Amino acid sequence: STSAPDSDTPSAPNAPLPKGIVLGPDGKPCRSCNSKSAFSAWSSLAKKQINDSPNNTHSTSKSTSTSTPFASSTHTAPLPISNDCPPDVEELGRSTWTLLHSIAAQYPTTPSPTQQDHARTFISSFSQLYPCWSCASEFRAWLSKDGNAPRVSSRSDFGRWLCEAHNEVNTKLGKKTFDCERWEERWRVGWKD
Ligand code: FAD
Repeated sequence: STSAPDSDTPSAPNAPLPKGIVLGPDGKPCRSCNSKSAFSAWSSLAKKQINDSPNNTHSTSKSTSTSTPFASSTHTAPLPISNDCPPDVEELGRSTWTLLHSIAAQYPTTPSPTQQDHARTFISSFSQLYPCWSCASEFRAWLSKDGNAPRVSSRSDFGRWLCEAHNEVNTKLGKKTFDCERWEERWRVGWKD
């Protein structure tokens, strides 16, 4: 894409991309699809390229008044990671799984047809709106396979189904799978001794 850079994202036309970095629909690295370290490595390279450009009239030495970590950086090492930045793919994922499993934990044991509709609609909308577009796209592909539609007829069914969905992502990322017998201990009642 040739779209103009966002004001909050450094962009150099030919900035090298760290291996494996996921781009957003605008052709720039997607914050919520990459780890902070990958995003940060890319943005320091992009910033350096802008600073080194012969057409650059705003050298870093003139821009020390801003408080962003980009202000005085002329090296290519990853920038310091601060806690009040937009979430990366991992932080977003952890927070999202917390919300999803917590919803299942409070879902009725015998939901009405309307409540079941709400759960199905929520998952469907979620799969369209999840901010990591590449995660969302793969999640939709998984949802559309036979046998993977949300099971919402009880709390137990919904919690198990979410656990299986989460395990699918765990497996894809090379992480250990979770014992779905224990999802309620993790997300509703606390661990047994
Ligand atoms: P998380 O996987 O975030 O899990 C948080 C906690 O949940 C764990 O500490 C554990 O106590 C518990 N838990 C783990 N597994 C289960 C389970 N099966 N059932 C119940 N509880 C469990 N990241 C990518 O890099 N690429 C992707 O394509 C991608 N797709 C995603 C799709 C979705 C729908 C979501 C919500 C997230 C996705 N993520 C993706 C993020 C990824 O799943 C993790 O959230 C992220 O890597 C951080 O992992 P974590 O090890 O901190 O624990």
